[in-house]
Amino acid sequence: MSFVNKAGMIFARKWIGGITISDVLAVCKNLNNHGEHVIINYLGEDYTDELKTKSSTGKYVCLIREMKKLKINGDIALKPTQLGLRINYGMFLSNYEKIVNYADRHRIRVWLDMEDYMLVDDTIRAYLHELKLHKNVGICIQSKLKRSTDDIRRITGKGGMIRLVKGAYPARSGITYLNKWDIDTSYIHCMKYLFKHSNRFMIATHDDSMIDLARDLEIDYNKSVMFAMLKGIRGKLALQLVSDKENVYIYVPFGEDWVEYSARRLKELEHSLLILRSIISG
Ligand SMILES: Cc1cc2nc3c(=O)[nH]c(=O)nc-3n(C[C@H](O)[C@H](O)[C@H](O)COP(=O)(O)OP(=O)(O)OC[C@H]3O[C@@H](n4cnc5c(N)ncnc54)[C@H](O)[C@@H]3O)c2cc1C
Repeated sequence: MSFVNKAGMIFARKWIGGITISDVLAVCKNLNNHGEHVIINYLGEDYTDELKTKSSTGKYVCLIREMKKLKINGDIALKPTQLGLRINYGMFLSNYEKIVNYADRHRIRVWLDMEDYMLVDDTIRAYLHELKLHKNVGICIQSKLKRSTDDIRRITGKGGMIRLVKGAYPARSGITYLNKWDIDTSYIHCMKYLFKHSNRFMIATHDDSMIDLARDLEIDYNKSVMFAMLKGIRGKLALQLVSDKENVYIYVPFGEDWVEYSARRLKELEHSLLILRSIISG
């Protein structure tokens, strides 16, 4: 690792669980000891080399085995383009299926992350295929996309499990909502639909107003949801939720490909600070 990479890694440690499986499992054990469940993701996306997709699949198999050995309380999350979706759908499905089969035998839940809007159809198609065969699968849906209400309706109608996020990928006029107000309104709409029509789903956000609303709805609907946050963001709030007896998951990525992920979190942090500054200065 170069000096620049080493220095960056020290900074990025806030958001990632290290480079190796043993690094990440040590971090996860510690989170488990504080009452938090984990969702572990092996970093990597947009692979165009079949060998790399196979190697990632193998990595997830090792990860599942080690999670079981160390009795880690948690799930895993996969990026479709790490498993070959940019190359072809069949390759992605075959890698996804291998991981889900292995995870099912070890009673570990597998989430499909959601990436760029162009990949949504194939991601949902693969998810619904696996859902027919396994119960241990969930999928991420982004409130930023205008189509998401329909997708949630279709997925919950088939008994699927949703992890609701706002969406981290670039906006596109006509396809995504373009401003925070509309994305938040859509998030609220999707959340209310889930409370009405689903018994098991995840509210994945660091936004106080969304979390407060979800907690109010838990009382109204007499349902308990799973809350999820990214490692290194709003850690105190996560622990507060645990002490309030909420079900909390921390998403912990790990691996050599930490630069792009950390850059995305840094950009969000800058964006949040800008909003805060504009509120303070009126
Ligand atoms: C468990 C989990 C899984 C995710 N999976 C996916 C996925 O598969 N696909 C996808 O597109 N997106 C995913 N995301 C990312 C998500 O889409 C958002 O980009 C991210 O969560 C920020 O949105 P927010 O809901 O926290 O709300 P925002 O409105 O962005 O932020 C709300 C508040 O949270 C705090 N905050 C947010 N981000 C930061 C930060 N980086 N540093 C410090 N404070 C911050 C600030 O206080 C901010 O005011 C996931 C998020 C979580 C929590």
